[in-house]
Amino acid sequence: MIPVTKPFLPPQDSYSKYLTGIWQRNWLTNMGPLASELEMKLKEHLQLEHLLFVTNGTVALQMAIKALNLKGEIITTPFSFVATTSSIVWEGCQPIFVDIDEQSLNIDATKIEAAITQNTTAILATHVYGNPCDVLAIEKIARKHHLKVVYDGAHAFGVEINGKSIFEYGDISTCSLHATKLYHSIEGGLVITKDASLLKRLAYIRNFGFDGPEAFAELGINGKNSEFHAAMGLVNLDYIDQISSKRKALTLRYDEKLKGLRTRRPLWHAHSENNYAYYPIVFESEVSMLNCMNYLKGHEIFTRRYFYPSLANTLPYLTPKNFEVTDEVDKCILCLPLYADLSIEEVDLICRLLLRIQNN
Ligand SMILES: *Cc1c(COP(=O)(O)O)cnc(C)c1O
Repeated sequence: MIPVTKPFLPPQDSYSKYLTGIWQRNWLTNMGPLASELEMKLKEHLQLEHLLFVTNGTVALQMAIKALNLKGEIITTPFSFVATTSSIVWEGCQPIFVDIDEQSLNIDATKIEAAITQNTTAILATHVYGNPCDVLAIEKIARKHHLKVVYDGAHAFGVEINGKSIFEYGDISTCSLHATKLYHSIEGGLVITKDASLLKRLAYIRNFGFDGPEAFAELGINGKNSEFHAAMGLVNLDYIDQISSKRKALTLRYDEKLKGLRTRRPLWHAHSENNYAYYPIVFESEVSMLNCMNYLKGHEIFTRRYFYPSLANTLPYLTPKNFEVTDEVDKCILCLPLYADLSIEEVDLICRLLLRIQNN
């Protein structure tokens, strides 16, 4: 059986080493020393001035919306994971969808301005599969219309544009460190901002709004993460280069072997390198995609329609809306298995099967 993804697990003793310290200190959560160490090491690794380690990528988005005090309408993409939209609704705002660009599969920046109204307060865009949005165009629009920008960078760990972390763009960026992501702390997330006063606000929000033991500075939530999760994050950081180079090798193998397949790959940002978080391919039709998906399933190989269906016409709490490009792409897209444990031979097998069924 080949799953579409498999969480990375480091050698068990490299994790258990951290447990002795946790037992000695008896400090299990609430921004303990391991959580602080993880924040420090991640800042170093990602070359960022500020970041906060939080519960998960969804709470990270909710904290971002809260900290920026966003109200009214937030422009967003229908082609993302449900948390991008649900966090907007959860925070009492209204998601306004804008169609995606056919090549990058990110929100189409040229269509954003037409969706702006008097009630628009922000743009919340996802770097889909880690592929950077058109951040310069979005920044320009945001400046012109006095909008805040939040990036859902759940997929974008380690991605840079011209050597600068993708998380530096926008007012706030978030990341998910969920077990299925490229780099993980089992459950976890990051909130990133360059603005020191915003960071302070986010830090209060993460800890119930506490400002000392008996005072409150903000409306807060429990966005803290534990020492056990931080320990997994610390261990996995030692393996991130290994994980990345393995994923890169697998991706290049897919690219090479699938040259003859009638599919296309999303177009990656010209000044950025893939972080190899996913391997999506877009088929010519839904029929041909389903044909391949089912054929692989018959061989115990599992792929995922990621993202399908569109967030704009599937959520029971929103009025359905169709979008030309999104509704076409989400029918035809399929993510192939990609994880550090996958072997080159397994990739070869997947490619052989795909070519065989399509040329049948
Ligand atoms: C995974 C994911 C999230 C949510 O992250 P969690 O850590 O699982 O809460 C948000 N947005 C996108 C695009 C994701 O893929």
